[in-house]
Amino acid sequence: MTTFHDLGLSKTIVATLSALGFEKATPIQEKAIPLVLEGSDLIGLAQTGTGKTAAFGLPMIEKLLAEARRPDPRNIRALILAPTRELVNQIADNLRDFVKKTPLRVVTVVGGASINKQSEMLSRGTDILVATPGRLLDLVARKAVTLTQARYLVLDEADQMLDLGFIHDLRKISKLVPKNRQTLLFSATMPKLIAELAGEYLVNPKKVEVTPPGKAADKVEQYVHFVPGKDQKTQILKQTLTANPDGLSLVFSRTKHGAEKLMKHLDHIGFKAASIHGNKSQGQRERALKAFRDGEIRVLVATDVAARGIDIPGVTHVYNYDLPEVPDAYVHRIGRTARNGRDGIAIAFCAPDEAHLLRDIEKLMGIKITVASGEAPAIVTAGPGGKSRKGRNNGGQRSGNGRAAQRPQRKPFGDGAQAASEGAAPAAGKRAHGGRPQQKQGERQNRNHGAGNGQGRPSQHGKPRRSEGQRREQA
Ligand code: AMP
Repeated sequence: MTTFHDLGLSKTIVATLSALGFEKATPIQEKAIPLVLEGSDLIGLAQTGTGKTAAFGLPMIEKLLAEARRPDPRNIRALILAPTRELVNQIADNLRDFVKKTPLRVVTVVGGASINKQSEMLSRGTDILVATPGRLLDLVARKAVTLTQARYLVLDEADQMLDLGFIHDLRKISKLVPKNRQTLLFSATMPKLIAELAGEYLVNPKKVEVTPPGKAADKVEQYVHFVPGKDQKTQILKQTLTANPDGLSLVFSRTKHGAEKLMKHLDHIGFKAASIHGNKSQGQRERALKAFRDGEIRVLVATDVAARGIDIPGVTHVYNYDLPEVPDAYVHRIGRTARNGRDGIAIAFCAPDEAHLLRDIEKLMGIKITVASGEAPAIVTAGPGGKSRKGRNNGGQRSGNGRAAQRPQRKPFGDGAQAASEGAAPAAGKRAHGGRPQQKQGERQNRNHGAGNGQGRPSQHGKPRRSEGQRREQA
């Protein structure tokens, strides 16, 4: 067991950690803390939930304390950038716990809150500023803050920042911080753009990794229901929620509108639900998160943007009500469960027009997700005149009532109705089978993800990939 003392942290910090119940370092902390203390730039491949905030925060705090100086007015000593308000607040909450017994000040700036108040907070000088990129640039433009004394720059959830279209803001900010800073970049995945970004901003970085990209969710049991449409998604969702009354369920919707509608429906029929998405005010989001964290509501319907990085330890089920357009997002989503050694279940719904998304996810993760019910639709192929037509598996497999024809059940909870009545829906901690779901030979014989025919690209479905801006706006 590696203690924080072993990693080179001072007595004060170790005592604070001990009071917080942190006795043993997590793997990312073990690897990252000594490197940050020695002054290296760092690329950390790790998801939220691995203890990465402490991995970059603790050594940074240690070094800020050792430098023993106060920040000048309107200046900052360290800058942490994160993609969403929730994540900024979560990081700052963690850091405030760590600096409790020190003179260091942690300030947050995020969109959607009063800029004048933030300006005032910054006027005294800030040791650690945690910010979303857009609001930070607004404050720089107002001369409320300058970044020229920042000695540390942390880019947290860098992949998400790029997904959200923050690349230009990041470029601007990187020009405003001094060249001789120490830079730490954390990302759950390492797409090419992140590697390029790292090449631009980091100098001889050391790389630490706690979960191979795309494999982050080893502990999560994953299932997919093939459904003909939204009605069946909602039906199975309700039945599985009913069968798991003690669970904490996070349900992902692709759009703000969809999230709101689903939440209202669930709430209307008696599930205690709330939603978080881009149309909710900061206060509403925080209240919803708190109620969910406290177990007052059992179902939180969220979009990716709003839910990114949120650390709620007791989530038992993650539902991909809509599959994400970017496969990395699936990994992030299901990483919200099975935290801190607990079990977790991820249930995805896949409508015929989402088959290509599932294929991309499985490719990224290098696994085949266990089929809970339904039949994989054939990939839609472009018909004459550019019109789509369904492949043979699909049309012929619908039953008269519009439900997808069901294959023989493979899991006791495969059909939601059956699960509800038999109480056999997947409950975290009660695994229907051990280990990572592996598809048995023959189970997937009918699944067609368009392999080899080049089909399934969104653009070939008459649905062009949406731009980053559009994705951001919808979520
Ligand atoms: P993070 O990945 O930084 O979001 O951290 C996930 C959760 O683990 C947070 O609630 C932290 O407070 C907690 N945590 C981080 N490091 C440790 C540790 N060494 N021991 C116990 N809990 C920790």
